[in-house]
Amino acid sequence: MTHVITKNCLGETYARCAAICPVDAIHPGTYQGEPFMAIDPETCIDCDACTAECPIGAIVATADESPEWAKINAELTPQCKGNAALTPRPADDPPRKPDHKLVR
Ligand code: SF4
Repeated sequence: MTHVITKNCLGETYARCAAICPVDAIHPGTYQGEPFMAIDPETCIDCDACTAECPIGAIVATADESPEWAKINAELTPQCKGNAALTPRPADDPPRKPDHKLVR
């Protein structure tokens, strides 16, 4: 089991999750041409620190909640590892996509 970043992150990458992750399991990259962040399932220790840090609720706590995106996170991880860390956006920064909403 591992935490998983889901489709709401596409085009957003608040990057607050990566900044708080204690084991550096979250890496920025792109998916289908849009900015995205992936959780390395081999590194994540399921501490749950990242979930509350995402202002648009893009992270789920188990792969079972989003098997499709769990697969995508795992597949993207090798190419995202090594990318420079992003500067986190403020939690109250409005989402870039109109269908994304601040949830916390
Ligand atoms: S659950 Fe913890 S270890 Fe896993 S990605 Fe989130 S902050 Fe990192």
